[in-house]
Amino acid sequence: MPKKPNRTDLQNYVPAGNGDESGEYRGGTSTSEGMHDSDCENYRKVLEAKKEALGNAFNPASKPEEELVRDPNKQSTEFNKEKYFKTYTLNDKDTSFFVSKYDEMNDFGKKQIAELSSKMDTRFDRSLSGTGSFVVHLNDLNGGTVIIPGDDNRANRVMAHEYGHAIDFNFGEEGVFASSSVHLSNGRTMEDAVCNHANAVDRSRISDLFYEFHDEVGKLTSKVCEQEGISKEDIERATSLNTELARTEAQFYHETYNNRELQGRKEEIMNKKVAEKGFSPSEIDTLKKIYKRVSEIKSKSLAELQPKWAVISDYYGYIDGEGYLMGCGHSVDYYRKRGGYSAVTREVFAELTEQRFNDEANYQFTKSKMPDVVEAYEELYNKIKSGVIKSLKERRG
Ligand SMILES: [Zn+2]
Repeated sequence: MPKKPNRTDLQNYVPAGNGDESGEYRGGTSTSEGMHDSDCENYRKVLEAKKEALGNAFNPASKPEEELVRDPNKQSTEFNKEKYFKTYTLNDKDTSFFVSKYDEMNDFGKKQIAELSSKMDTRFDRSLSGTGSFVVHLNDLNGGTVIIPGDDNRANRVMAHEYGHAIDFNFGEEGVFASSSVHLSNGRTMEDAVCNHANAVDRSRISDLFYEFHDEVGKLTSKVCEQEGISKEDIERATSLNTELARTEAQFYHETYNNRELQGRKEEIMNKKVAEKGFSPSEIDTLKKIYKRVSEIKSKSLAELQPKWAVISDYYGYIDGEGYLMGCGHSVDYYRKRGGYSAVTREVFAELTEQRFNDEANYQFTKSKMPDVVEAYEELYNKIKSGVIKSLKERRG
């Protein structure tokens, strides 16, 4: 278990424009990173081996010398000064945790971080709240700090996501993200591509995507059910019982309103009513269990497919005006408070980076759905990687 940080170890940070605290990556709240003391001996070896490849990214973050002061000249930037994050300086175990998360990325992702780290002053920190974010010190516009949750099986994805925000920030104009400030070959920015795409989307496109997603969830759910020996007929019967129970329950509350005696006999009365519809008591028990299991399988299928659909869910959810199209992403309000489509663009940049660094197939899937936006992203990314655009650090010499 890592040593609990004391108050003086805690640092104040302000999340940069993105601030993923909205729940996108809300994971466990424990700060344990699942390591045993015996692992400690190995961390330095692991770390030394990786350090060369990772440049200075894993050096412990320096502690701020003074309280954060908001520079009035930076008013126009989109930093969110209201939300302060508490983090603490990395210890050796944390560092080895980061290395292990880095190792979980695909070869492309690892290569990107290894090569970009020397051009960026970006540090890593562990989140105490179980959320990921990318933050910038307001009194010193350095390359920012990537904060990832310590106890989350998606931490490799969070790491790539927040690192995506870091890339976006480091290669943009001072205080403005690259996705909003760097002009591409057509004279437009990635943000323009995101806006143009959004303007061209109509309702039927949104509902097509929505049904395509649920169709995939349904197929995956059926497949798992079949493997577990739950037949289609079982599912249909369990579903109709569930509908019947819901109706009966509504009826029950209506009829027994203010009748304590009857309310105490809820289960008995409901079972009797449902039996009248042709469900025997023993069948009811079995079907309830089946329904519960099918619901669990469905939730798992949803969760499994969300990384694939994450960009579309978040982006199209905003276009749709309701948010969370496939159940994940940020709220519409979250984006409105952060500048609308420029905030959406930053998220698309980070989410594409997250997919590309971890699941190439998911990235290609997103590209097939919104090629114009992903091509703008790739052109911007290539400009960054080829050195056409200099980082904050490089520009300062
Ligand atoms: Zn984000």
